[in-house]
Amino acid sequence: MNSLDQYSHTTVVDAQALMALEGRVIRPGSVDYEDARKIWNGMIDRRPALIIRPHSAADVAYAINFARENGHHVSVRGGGHNVSGKALNDGGVVIDMSEMRAVEVNVSERIVRAEGGATIGDLDGATQPFGLAVPMGVVSKTGIAGLTLGGGMGWLRNRYGLSCDNLLAVEMVTWDGRTLRASADTNSDLFWLMRGSGVAPGVVTTFEYQAHPVGPEVMMVFALHDGEGERAGQALRFVREFAEQAPDSVSILSALGYVPSAHHFPHEAQGKPYVLAAAMYSGDAAEGERILQPLRDFATPLVDFSGIMPYSQAQTLYDEDYPDGGRYYWKSLYVNHLGVDVIDQLVTLSREMPSMGSTIDVWFMGGATARVPAEATSFGNRYSPIMLGIESNWDRADEDEANIAWARRVADVMSVHSDGTQYANFPGLWEGGDAQLRATYGAHYERVLGIKAKYDPTGAFG
Ligand SMILES: Cc1cc2nc3c(=O)[nH]c(=O)nc-3n(C[C@H](O)[C@H](O)[C@H](O)COP(=O)(O)OP(=O)(O)OC[C@H]3O[C@@H](n4cnc5c(N)ncnc54)[C@H](O)[C@@H]3O)c2cc1C
Repeated sequence: MNSLDQYSHTTVVDAQALMALEGRVIRPGSVDYEDARKIWNGMIDRRPALIIRPHSAADVAYAINFARENGHHVSVRGGGHNVSGKALNDGGVVIDMSEMRAVEVNVSERIVRAEGGATIGDLDGATQPFGLAVPMGVVSKTGIAGLTLGGGMGWLRNRYGLSCDNLLAVEMVTWDGRTLRASADTNSDLFWLMRGSGVAPGVVTTFEYQAHPVGPEVMMVFALHDGEGERAGQALRFVREFAEQAPDSVSILSALGYVPSAHHFPHEAQGKPYVLAAAMYSGDAAEGERILQPLRDFATPLVDFSGIMPYSQAQTLYDEDYPDGGRYYWKSLYVNHLGVDVIDQLVTLSREMPSMGSTIDVWFMGGATARVPAEATSFGNRYSPIMLGIESNWDRADEDEANIAWARRVADVMSVHSDGTQYANFPGLWEGGDAQLRATYGAHYERVLGIKAKYDPTGAFG
């Protein structure tokens, strides 16, 4: 008997056991079950036995106790954006936090408390009216939970660090049903674990962050430069040289890809190879316009969406590029440098992508992120100057194999320039077993697993 069959026999018992919940329980056969089991990555097709949507910390404890007492594996869904699909499982319980998204801002202390199902858009929406922001990622529908637990890189990283660096505390429910607070002073080992390893031995009901003055307007560069022939390498070299001398108020992202055939891109540019120069200057916007200008005019861009704009708009510039239900496979690799040899290889590999929607992203690291001592958080690698995000993005199931193979090949070829470390938040399908865990936790491997085992001794949270 598989666990789904088991559930259909025990439905009456479940209904009674879960009656005290304020939130919702969605089962196979419920009208919204098919929607509830969808996440952002359309490749993931899993059928949980129960999806519980709590409305309070008490509900979360109730759901965990229920799962434990009935011997069920638990997955936790925040924003549902993790590419590996680990927010879902087959035949177990999913605690789906999407109905716990409230955000409170303490303006005088610049402290933000956000529920565990909040998205980046929820956070920005609550903080920007006060001219504040918490460093988060670059797509507004991403969940703050998975993002922060795995690190969290965005447009403020060089100035204020990663999302996990700005975490002050979490409130969570652990496998034994206890509600705990973890901070630098209380349960400090658990707090350390929750800052960047991607491991959560329980369900976070509230994240508490330090916010910073940002906006309301910022200068944003988003210029797609011609990537034809030798121009690709030249453009990437220029962006690297610019990044090497940029102040901390600038965070830079580059990418190699092809201009999409979408209405907001000029017709004549569509289908051409590009090198993206994207950067935010998060200080005074007029000053940022002057400082970032070279990224726009070192060549004539194919497309230039740059300008002074509200921070909250800059935070959504990428949203349309990642529709729900597309097929995605993302890997990552930190590399030691972006020399001419690395650039040439990246350009060649980018020409081999089977889907024109894919990209190789080049995250320029450093600044505040690199100044946090390695042992202060569980984040695996703060010091490599470059993180490659290898993004296969495509539409059709019969193209899965080719697109997954391309991303793996890019990572393999680039591995000679790397110590092998990877970013927890771009994990492919977590198919690499223990070797992938070592590559993700780096020097923290033993400590991460030790603390995880202390708080989740049965490995119920995976
Ligand atoms: C379109 C897109 C853009 C992205 N952009 C960036 C970016 O700019 N910068 C960056 O660093 N990363 C980025 N990422 C990666 C992102 O950080 C990870 O995918 C992250 O895991 C997403 O978090 P989530 O809550 O949406 O994911 P989910 O899939 O919901 O959750 C992932 C895992 O986090 C844990 N989790 C979630 N909620 C909770 C909770 N409340 N309590 C305990 N554990 C929980 C669970 O283990 C869960 O399986 C992006 C991803 C996508 C899809």
